Amino acid sequence: MNDHADQAATAAARAATADGLGDGTRAVRAGLPEPVKNEPPLPGPVFAAHFHLPGDVEGPYTYGRDTNPTWTLLERAIGELEAPGQDGVDTIVFASGMAAVSAVLLSQARTGDTVVLPDDGYQALPLVREQLEAYGIRVRTAPTGDDGQLAVLDGARLLWIETPSNPGLDVCDVRRLVEAAHAGGTLVAVDNTLATPLGQRPLELGADFSVASGTKGLTGHGDLLLGYVVCRDPGLAAAVRRWRKIVGAIPGPMEAWLAHRSLATIQLRAQRQWANALAVAESLADRTDVTGLRYPGLPADPSHKTAARQMRGFGSVVSFALPDRAHAERFMAALHLVEDATSFGGVRSTAERRGRWGGDSVPEGFIRLSAGAEDTGDLVADVLRALDAASAAA
Ligand SMILES: *Cc1c(COP(=O)(O)O)cnc(C)c1O
Repeated sequence: MNDHADQAATAAARAATADGLGDGTRAVRAGLPEPVKNEPPLPGPVFAAHFHLPGDVEGPYTYGRDTNPTWTLLERAIGELEAPGQDGVDTIVFASGMAAVSAVLLSQARTGDTVVLPDDGYQALPLVREQLEAYGIRVRTAPTGDDGQLAVLDGARLLWIETPSNPGLDVCDVRRLVEAAHAGGTLVAVDNTLATPLGQRPLELGADFSVASGTKGLTGHGDLLLGYVVCRDPGLAAAVRRWRKIVGAIPGPMEAWLAHRSLATIQLRAQRQWANALAVAESLADRTDVTGLRYPGLPADPSHKTAARQMRGFGSVVSFALPDRAHAERFMAALHLVEDATSFGGVRSTAERRGRWGGDSVPEGFIRLSAGAEDTGDLVADVLRALDAASAAA
């Protein structure tokens, strides 16, 4: 984007947000307490298993599995990013993304209920499905693309959406699914991991829960695991909070503090990483060794129209396929600036041949690449050079 288009887009984003701030301004201040003379702007992590509690059990901090002041600030920060300018939003942080995912599903569904999952979502969802079924909860699945879950909503207690889906990068129309789900009394949760709250705000699209792994783009440094749930309904929030208390899936104060520190740069990281992802995707578009290229930010992508309507940025992940497993392995080995690692959303680019895990139904040569915050020219050059090297050896 040129400067004028960039400024126009920023102005539009600002106007559309209740608190009147831009994303970068909100990010650097998110969750900070009122300034206190001689105190740090972001107080350090509070390491405490218990808090002084003479007399009656009252006040915010009693025992370290229930509450912690470092979580409180982080929860406020995430809530401000997920639902800017909205009061009454409740955020609950967890030890990992899966702790947050499980907390929503297992606190909401009872024996005899039906839950709808995507059949192309995060690779641990089939494990969750087995556990739900072991508790007598019925599970239906359908693809994310073409709003496939609409066809299996009837009578469900909860609809689980993952958009863009990981790793296939299909996108569904959240507003449309929410409308149909709510009409039938079905709650809706959106996994917002890939987009991050900067790229998509599920509560504004009508969802009851926004759930995510904070391990990926939210914190962006690949140095901690975290999860969170954001919701507006106090009853739903209380059930999720109660689940955290009884399961004890709590983040450590150090992780919570590091996460909060990292949030200050989310807008900077996202802007660079999204731009890099688009540049990589564009550079792959005309190559004969690449098939099945997907990036929701590419105008020609099947997801683009829906993504452009409901997303504020298209994320850092690009997926594509090389001709076969050996070709993909040569490509991975030839990269210098892209680490061969799972996960995504970090400041250092990562990629992997996804098929090595089994589980996802992807071709043997399928690559999921997460663009980091490197200089765009360096990253694109490295990817193109590795592709050339892999093809030359074919
Ligand atoms: C990584 C991921 C999770 C799980 O998060 P952890 O922090 O690894 O537990 C859930 N959903 C999606 C889409 C993910 O990418």
